[in-house]
Amino acid sequence: MEQVSAREISRVSVEGQTSTMMANQKRAFNNRTCEAPYLIFLGPPGSGKGTQAEKLHKNFRLVQLSTGNLFREQIAQGTELGLRVKDILAKGELVPDDLTIAMVMDRLAKPDTIMGVVFDGFPRTLDQALALQNKLDEHGKCITAVIHFNITDDQIVERLGARRMCPKDNSIYNLKSYKPKDDEKCDICGTPLIHRADDKPDVVRHRLNIYRQQTEPLIEFYREQDMLIEIDAARTIEEIEAQMDEWMPMFIYDANE
Ligand code: AMP
Repeated sequence: MEQVSAREISRVSVEGQTSTMMANQKRAFNNRTCEAPYLIFLGPPGSGKGTQAEKLHKNFRLVQLSTGNLFREQIAQGTELGLRVKDILAKGELVPDDLTIAMVMDRLAKPDTIMGVVFDGFPRTLDQALALQNKLDEHGKCITAVIHFNITDDQIVERLGARRMCPKDNSIYNLKSYKPKDDEKCDICGTPLIHRADDKPDVVRHRLNIYRQQTEPLIEFYREQDMLIEIDAARTIEEIEAQMDEWMPMFIYDANE
């Protein structure tokens, strides 16, 4: 099976050349023969990670492991963890690593994750990244690729101002670019959509500062391991989805080939 590196994929996509050639040939990504795809979506809040992770869940049956959604579920259920993290989320701060890592490890212990996972919003610190790598190593698994959603702060603030979320099934809409069909109600379950308190402009700016300080260093961390693929996250949802569809065959290792 032919090998392809993260640098090669990034170069091809950045230069805007067609990557059909790569899509037509099933290749192992970086010689990492993971049984199932374990993809990390890395990028600032509002860069479109959640929307694309939802699509990978629907189209490829990957588990969408969104730490933000898991924390919001805990808050909605009023659990002990929910009570501990409620104010942290409202302020746009990061939940301490020990709590976050423990929650992710619990989720990874469920059998559905065996078919592959897209990590959406995790890891956000170097300690989280190391904990994830150790855990996957222990189970003979590995991170297939890290997709970096690249976008400017101004584009984020504008996007999050128009973002709406279904509090019941977590699906995401945008009043400008990805409107719900019926007024401000969820297309799937009809629940009235909400504008997350932490999507208001001043909290967004704070979350972006935290992202730049604590999470952005992970870009270099993964780039050095040749795991990082860049995507221009200012493109439309459809364009990014099409790009993901092209890349997916490279992330799925087929032991019979
Ligand atoms: P998100 O929905 O990914 O934007 O996450 C919403 C909030 O959940 C963040 O602003 C943090 O307060 C918390 N959170 C989500 N993921 C993490 C993480 N990996 N580490 C720490 N806090 C997190």
